[in-house]
Amino acid sequence: MALIKVKTPLVEMDGDEMARIIWHFIREKLIIPHLELDIRYYDLGIKHRDDTDDRVTVESANAIKELGVGVKCATITPNAARVREYGLKQQWKSPNGTIRSILDGTVFRKPIIMKNIPPAVRSWKKPIIIGRHAYGDIYKNVELVVEGPGIAEIVFTPEGGGEKKVVRIHDFRGKGVIMGMHNTEKSVRSFARACINYALSEKVDLWFGTKDTISKQYHGFFRDVFAEEAEKSGDAFTAAGIRYRYLLIDDAVAQVVKSDGGMLWACMNYDGDVMSDMVATGFGSLGLMTSVLVSPDGKYEFEAAHGTVVRHYYEHLKGNATSTNSVASIFAWTGALAKRGELDNTPDVVRFARVLEQVVTETVESGTMTKDLMLIAEPRVSKYACTEEFIDAVAERLKKRLG
Ligand code: NAP
Ligand code: MG
Repeated sequence: MALIKVKTPLVEMDGDEMARIIWHFIREKLIIPHLELDIRYYDLGIKHRDDTDDRVTVESANAIKELGVGVKCATITPNAARVREYGLKQQWKSPNGTIRSILDGTVFRKPIIMKNIPPAVRSWKKPIIIGRHAYGDIYKNVELVVEGPGIAEIVFTPEGGGEKKVVRIHDFRGKGVIMGMHNTEKSVRSFARACINYALSEKVDLWFGTKDTISKQYHGFFRDVFAEEAEKSGDAFTAAGIRYRYLLIDDAVAQVVKSDGGMLWACMNYDGDVMSDMVATGFGSLGLMTSVLVSPDGKYEFEAAHGTVVRHYYEHLKGNATSTNSVASIFAWTGALAKRGELDNTPDVVRFARVLEQVVTETVESGTMTKDLMLIAEPRVSKYACTEEFIDAVAERLKKRLG
């Protein structure tokens, strides 16, 4: 079999635990045998991040900036217990956070649909993609517990003089609590642009919801910036046959649940945090959720939405067989390869990625699947595949299809 040539090098970011184990199977059994591919490899495994004082994470993000497309395995974000477990020098920051701040991107999460994995919501037929604003609001807030009576105010002091602005929050008569949060026009606008670009490239309607009836200024600000950006892209929306729809956030939730899917749902930071978990669970399994970080200047990082699947990894270390779903990780590779092929103008590479996706879908739909899916499959299947068995079944089918 002739190898399919990938023109530009692909950035690969390796990761941790069970996710790393499936990652290597995927690379060795599904990717390397079929492609002539120059991989720029960065080991973001926790030991190597520790050894390099986390420089490797920064270098990998810069490589995506240079080359345009990367694919990333799930990584540990260390907490105190992980620092002890792995004997780390310090509690390194979340690699995803570091990469996101370097690329200044927006994360889109998209579920993979299989005929025999019915969603919890019967009406859902097409993917519901969630775009989450990843800056500000409660994630960059300041908070204060007030111990007794007193006045709380918002004060804005303009730089270089000018009149102070003071707004009363509350006149406390007893103990209570206050929170101050912010966002910036630049960040909201670039989020709106990222969502518009993604909706146009995927040809799906764009929905956005806030609580602007209650928060007339804060949420109203988001609504207005979005509306301005959508307006500017009006002709592009018409040409793509899609539309922009603004809703009240509670109406958006109700309409999404009643819909058959097929939209990009742009969410404010907190809504996106909560709703992406709701949508992921509604579609079946974290093992079927992919994620892509898109920067405003068109750089892409693909990954599975799940973590390192640590419970399975501990079983694996004990020598027990595991049944970890590799579908989302395979789709991270195919997403990256298809984007690489699109940017390089190499249709063969795009075709390879699509064939691999079809083969994965056929494997699951013909009844070979991991345990997480077996529990929800319809029609029921009587046994599940272990981690490597599933990937081998895909590899076998892929070989036949390409040969
Ligand atoms: P997780 O890896 O997402 O797994 C949570 C649970 O979800 C698993 O125990 C498993 O349930 C199920 N699950 C997730 N992915 C699955 C798959 N591919 N196949 C089958 N079942 C799957 O979260 P975690 O175990 O709580 O987190 C572990 C580490 O991942 C943490 O150190 C965290 O920092 C990191 N993390 C990284 C990323 C990232 O790099 N993008 C994202 C999230 C978390 P059962 O146990 O019931 O089988
Ligand atoms: Mg969440």
